Amino acid sequence: MASTSASLVHHSSASAFLPIPSPSNANHKTLPAPPLRGRTFPVISCSASPSSPEPAAATAAAAHNNIRDEAIRHFHSKPNDPIPFSAKYVPFGCDFDSATESYSLDEIVYRSQSGSLLDVSHDMSSLRRYDGAYWRSLFDSRTGKTTWPYGSGVWSKKEWVLPEISPDHIVSAFEGNSNLFWAERFGKQHVRGMDDLWVKHCGISHTGSFKDLGMTVLVSQVNRLMKLKRPVVGVGCASTGDTSAALSAYCAAAGIPSIVFLPADKISLAQLVQPIANGAFVLSIDTDFDGCMKLIREVTAELPIYLANSLNSLRLEGQKTAAIEILQQFNWEVPDWVIVPGGNLGNIYAFYKGFKMCKDLELVDRIPRLVCAQAANANPLYLYYKNGWKEFKPVKAETTFASAIQIGDPVSIERAVYALKNSDGIVEEATEEELMNAMARADSTGMFTCPHTGVALTALLKLRERGVIGPRDRTVVVSTAHGLKFTQSKIAYHSKEIDGMECTFANPPVQVKADFGAVMDVLKGYLGQKS
Ligand SMILES: *Cc1c(COP(=O)(O)O)cnc(C)c1O
Repeated sequence: MASTSASLVHHSSASAFLPIPSPSNANHKTLPAPPLRGRTFPVISCSASPSSPEPAAATAAAAHNNIRDEAIRHFHSKPNDPIPFSAKYVPFGCDFDSATESYSLDEIVYRSQSGSLLDVSHDMSSLRRYDGAYWRSLFDSRTGKTTWPYGSGVWSKKEWVLPEISPDHIVSAFEGNSNLFWAERFGKQHVRGMDDLWVKHCGISHTGSFKDLGMTVLVSQVNRLMKLKRPVVGVGCASTGDTSAALSAYCAAAGIPSIVFLPADKISLAQLVQPIANGAFVLSIDTDFDGCMKLIREVTAELPIYLANSLNSLRLEGQKTAAIEILQQFNWEVPDWVIVPGGNLGNIYAFYKGFKMCKDLELVDRIPRLVCAQAANANPLYLYYKNGWKEFKPVKAETTFASAIQIGDPVSIERAVYALKNSDGIVEEATEEELMNAMARADSTGMFTCPHTGVALTALLKLRERGVIGPRDRTVVVSTAHGLKFTQSKIAYHSKEIDGMECTFANPPVQVKADFGAVMDVLKGYLGQKS
């Protein structure tokens, strides 16, 4: 159920090649009129004359030769046509038409004049010239193809992400299109008989976390800036985990230097190995994460290194496509709840933004209620929510297994509050024991989740327990990283080696002698328990 309908496949190869639907294109004499508002979706093609190759043939040839060259030819085939869509930076909370302060996406700017966050704002009136049915069909037609760059789950929504970038400048690993897993057994067995529970596996991705979705956008824009000869020689970030992995992979794919500041002796080998393998210039600095962050900010103010940290609003444009993808995977039916683990809190806003755009452009008629799930050891948003949004106080984040959300003073707090207030949202928290137990229970039903997903699953368990989420509510839990990145904590849990934790669902291996009788005894004991 709820998968992308096979009946839409027939117009796929044609529309996948049309990067920018042009409402005023007079060349397409033999084709149906362009799909303006109010019309249903016609089969659109970019082969203007009979002498042009069949789109399907072009696709095959492109895949065989060079899909990037093929995409550029299509993009530049009508050089006199203005690109009909655009986006720019505005201070957070302003919109495209009314903002008095705005910046081109080709400028290097991280904050507004007053120091507030920026937001990538789209020219909604030009997007609105096409109706919801048009956008749904266009996005559906591109899913899972090798057509550059639309085979990516992010770039299949290019017009809503970075409309003006040339396909030639895009750096993509065909990220996104992650599976939406029907968590049948987990729902029925562990969440009071829920039968419409889904896990969006965003972590089954190129570098193993959903940071890929945002990083393809940021690195593509930097690639464009470099091609435009802007003063950028590389990209830098301070991070211990997923951000540096994603940054170094995308930079490596494009041949852009990446510089990663890591706190010495504070990160695991698994966290260190990705940037090293991908050829990043890794500085191991004798300080903590905050110390690294401070240093890289100072350095990027002096040197032409683009700063890829989390206040960068470009990344959210990629992250928001996961929300659009969820709707698409449900055949544009809106789930009741979407639960997202939150640390720096850019992502809860990105999900809101994706859903809201789908509603505003009439792909769907409502948005889901959002839940942001925090680790109790790093829960400033939860505390703020609990005191009725009266006063926000940063906290000192304590160590948590959910290391990517161990943040006490989130940069995107404003964005998160906006998202939650406008989606009738809820904030929940998970203790270390709760999140590890939830992770282990999910794993025992066939998933292999990360601790952050354990935080989101705990929020689900609690809200279901309190009856806030109903037994029939269609609910999506966003899984943000691959469990294989976090084997250390799983091993500790299953060996019951975590201080002060029961590890209730541990499943340690049984030590047994290399002896038939001994093995039989152990197996009979096990089978006896099961029957
Ligand atoms: C970055 C990250 C998050 C949290 O996203 P924020 O935007 O910082 O709230 C959650 N899980 C994983 C695995 C991450 O890498």
